[in-house]
Amino acid sequence: MPRPAGTARSDSLPVARWAPPCSRVAALDPTGAGDTFCGTAIARLLAGDHPVEAARRAVAAAAEMVTMVGPAALWAPGPPPSPLPDRRVRVDPVAVQRLGRQINTLPDLDGFGFVGDLFPDVGDRGTVGWFTAATLQQYGFWYELDGGYDHPMVATIDGVPRKGSDYLWAHYMRWHRGSPTALQPAGQAAVTSAEWATAAADDSGNDPYPDSGQRVASAHAYGRSLAGIGLDADQLVAAAAGASRPLRSLLRLLDHVGGYREDPLRKKAALLAVILRQRPEGFVPAAPDDDAPPIVDYHVQRTSLRTGIVVVDDPELLGRLAGRRLLAPDEEWAVRRATFEAVAGLAEVSGRPMGAVDWFLFQMRHRCPEMSAPRCAECPADPVCAKSTDLFQPVLRTTAY
Ligand code: SF4
Repeated sequence: MPRPAGTARSDSLPVARWAPPCSRVAALDPTGAGDTFCGTAIARLLAGDHPVEAARRAVAAAAEMVTMVGPAALWAPGPPPSPLPDRRVRVDPVAVQRLGRQINTLPDLDGFGFVGDLFPDVGDRGTVGWFTAATLQQYGFWYELDGGYDHPMVATIDGVPRKGSDYLWAHYMRWHRGSPTALQPAGQAAVTSAEWATAAADDSGNDPYPDSGQRVASAHAYGRSLAGIGLDADQLVAAAAGASRPLRSLLRLLDHVGGYREDPLRKKAALLAVILRQRPEGFVPAAPDDDAPPIVDYHVQRTSLRTGIVVVDDPELLGRLAGRRLLAPDEEWAVRRATFEAVAGLAEVSGRPMGAVDWFLFQMRHRCPEMSAPRCAECPADPVCAKSTDLFQPVLRTTAY
């Protein structure tokens, strides 16, 4: 797995550094390894990969190159080599077929429009900036205890108990109404811990987030990186909207924005892109061959494990998932990567846009929740589900989801 190798500071911005794993191969001829790495990385970047994903593929290509004499690997038959899969976790293609066909049969499955009390009014001129500042904080609404998962974050605003994601939206709407410039890049770059705590407070005056220091740091990274680019969120999205593939263009632009750029699987970037496409204003226009990648959060991973589209073959990892114990980063990555591939398969088999598939999976937070028994009789996945109901999402603190 690619793993964080620490952080460096550049122009006062925290920047994640990743170390893609190297494959152990029988090297015959090292000639061309560096050229292959660079060429593949650049080609993959131009194809739209996140830099970490481009580097993973470049490592695999360079590893193959040195197993042959001279440039022989360049004209070897078959597709370019892929990074080695993690053998502990795999996609079940039969289960993906079954669930994908089931999703295909659902008559009223449309992507959510992200309108209502929790969101800016249609036509609000601050809408793009609001969603862009808020969505980067859509992660990690749960508490840990004694090396394991304890409970999800639920807190009350305006007398209404709100779970994780909904609390964040309500918190940001209140912040937006009370201080219209606070969510602009300059406001986020300068927000203090005390200002965050006030803005984030629930009805009892407490900040319920389990990692508020990280959230302030993410707000700073967001504001300062946009200032460094010289654009605000509206200008960034407008630039993407003018491209031939607007959604993919936005993902690549967000690879430069703090709070989004750190995740090689681009969960929050993909969520933002889908939101801006599905809002009535259509900020990110639809275009051919321009669907979003899978949006893999912990609800999606839990559902993937329970439905059986993702299978864990390693007994120790299986035990930690069932026991809701903290995972090592490589274990979490193995489950998340397999889930990413399985959800891509669901979109392909179902023929539904990723926004609709994601909405189907996100609804599982109600039917197949963390803290109470699954309600299978109400679940559209029921006829095809493996019902591995003891399994739980990876437990690891990350800002990715
Ligand atoms: S609610 Fe039941 S049928 Fe639905 S995903 Fe969960 S375990 Fe499967």
